[in-house]
Amino acid sequence: MKVIANMHICEANARCVEEAPEVFNVDDDDEMTVLQETITDPELQEKVRRAVARCPRAALSIEE
Ligand code: SF4
Repeated sequence: MKVIANMHICEANARCVEEAPEVFNVDDDDEMTVLQETITDPELQEKVRRAVARCPRAALSIEE
């Protein structure tokens, strides 16, 4: 699984960080970063799917 973030529409509200802090980070300057783009662990993949579903800006997508 590969995570793709559209930084043009992300508003750094950190919903994705709440779901998968191993994969997403929002720093003190309100900048969201994808910490790992390729996810192989099934449990982590599930967290990422929840993060994608919860993103209020639809800024995240995944490629299987
Ligand atoms: S949940 Fe969406 S809008 Fe919020 S920080 Fe994550 S990618 Fe950005």
